[in-house]
Amino acid sequence: PVASKLLVLCTLSSGGLLAYAESQSNIGSPSVVDDKPDESRQKRVVVLGTGWAGTSFLKYLDASAYDVQVVSPRNYFAFTPLLPSVTCGTVEARSIVEPVRNIIKKRNGEIKFCEAECVKIDATNKSVVLRANFGTNLVGNDEFSLEYDYLIIAIGAQVNTFNTPGVKENCHFLKEVEDAQKIRTSVIDCFEMAVLPGLSEEERRRNLHFVVVGGGPTGVEFAAELHDYFQEDLVKLYPMVKDLVKITVIQSGDHILNMFDDRISSFAEKKFNRDGIDVQTGCRVVSVSDKEITMKVKSKGEVCSVPHGLVVWSTGIGTRPVVSDFMKQIGQADKRVLVTDEWLRVKGCEDVYAIGDCASITQRKIMEDISAIFKAADKDNSGTLTVGEFQDIIDDIIIRYPQMELYLRSQHVQDLKDLLKDPEGNDRTEVNIEEFKLALAQVDSQMKSLPATAQVAAQQGAYLSRCFNRREQSKENPEGPRRFKSSGHHDFRPFRYKHFGQFAPLGGEEAAAELPGDWVSIGHSTQWLWYSVYASKQVSWRTRVLVVSDWTRRFIFGRDSSRI
Ligand code: FAD
Repeated sequence: PVASKLLVLCTLSSGGLLAYAESQSNIGSPSVVDDKPDESRQKRVVVLGTGWAGTSFLKYLDASAYDVQVVSPRNYFAFTPLLPSVTCGTVEARSIVEPVRNIIKKRNGEIKFCEAECVKIDATNKSVVLRANFGTNLVGNDEFSLEYDYLIIAIGAQVNTFNTPGVKENCHFLKEVEDAQKIRTSVIDCFEMAVLPGLSEEERRRNLHFVVVGGGPTGVEFAAELHDYFQEDLVKLYPMVKDLVKITVIQSGDHILNMFDDRISSFAEKKFNRDGIDVQTGCRVVSVSDKEITMKVKSKGEVCSVPHGLVVWSTGIGTRPVVSDFMKQIGQADKRVLVTDEWLRVKGCEDVYAIGDCASITQRKIMEDISAIFKAADKDNSGTLTVGEFQDIIDDIIIRYPQMELYLRSQHVQDLKDLLKDPEGNDRTEVNIEEFKLALAQVDSQMKSLPATAQVAAQQGAYLSRCFNRREQSKENPEGPRRFKSSGHHDFRPFRYKHFGQFAPLGGEEAAAELPGDWVSIGHSTQWLWYSVYASKQVSWRTRVLVVSDWTRRFIFGRDSSRI
């Protein structure tokens, strides 16, 4: 009876997560607690995840219009682009995180937070099963369920080991704040071990061989950070082993930073070569043990092993189990990530949205429309259009579907550009529509894979919150903005990604940047641009001040190499 009074009290006072209170009456029982949305209440929006996508959604959402419940096993937001800096103590871990409760407190209690992990999404019953982060025995196995009217899945992705033997057990990852902190301690451990008396030179060399698997932006930035840490600080503290230190980057492709412009990739390779960082391209890691890393050199087909002191695995991302399970339920088992339409709605699932690294957009509707536009333009059924007509149609498509601009105008879509040239490279007077459709299929596959970056995630979160803010308004005006009137389109404009460029810090106060309009900037001034952009992008003034003071501290006193 006491427990049920407590439940009533909590229900009246908060109307929120009754699970905790009700659970008091269920101690020892494995049953799952239900928290049904009250019909008279506002519609409930459940947001899974407090990363870039989830936080951006919450930041712009008009929370007074909904009953908003946020669920995440981490009660903070982490500024992931600075994680490589945390691995070497250039920036402290606490300087790049902001408590979720700080972010939501500005909403006067309109947003509720629950520190738990979603273990199952049940789209049929519109509920999610959550497991509390603590071993409290709240409800049997600590699981309870929460019903939703709208579900926003923003739970990001997990590290992808490609099932390579020994990786989970013997490698470090660089995905979460805890990973970066572990690397920081392990780097110091390697140095301390290497200077212990009685070790052979071979053992010292092994301890001081740092291997980075993956030549993408994260792996390259970590290698550069580690090199700076060694050159600027550790060399003074461990002069006796300074000649034994080695950093190796293993990349399966032919170049590091291969998603960047060729100029950046080749600058990075030359710089690493000058700095003494060994870049092994065309090598695939086949297994990792506690002392050795084994790889296959693609060109020769040879397998070789090298001893290591520490391996950081940074080869890309994979699907979280809860998302894979949900994808099976909704018939997307064959996909890599959750597929949404251009309005970020999960395909084949009512009222469920997916944003950030766990989602990808398919543009099939747009592709079909574009094909129809070309067909209609080809009035004489000749299968060709003049270059002028072709350009006009491209302009028209961009006005109608602004998100196509990045792809139709981008120099990376070489196939589209090639359509305007004959095999000898001369300008054509006519464009073949079938060829165009083939090229379009290529664009389609590129569009599906928007990069898994904080920029995409944050823009998707902001876009979706604007749609939610205008939901009532759009009910009154179901045809939506004038541009879509009677075109049969959704009430809102589709999501349009705007690319603001990408940085690659390369160490030694030098960075490279690919900026909009295919601009490339490399050097010391780009590093200063990097400092200003990342300082300005911090989520709060508190973290901004902490990050800038960490950078200043590092300039004056160097990095702190204590093992704590
Ligand atoms: P995340 O930010 O990963 O957030 C996922 C959230 O979901 C977290 O709060 C997590 O706790 C929560 N969660 C996880 N599982 C569950 C569950 N079962 N139930 C409920 N909640 C759950 N991008 C850039 O644009 N620029 C960069 O410079 C850059 N640098 C990077 C450096 C590093 C080291 C890393 C790892 C990534 C970097 N990225 C960068 C990529 C960027 O961090 C991701 O694209 C971005 O974090 C994706 O945002 P998200 O919200 O989808 O996922």
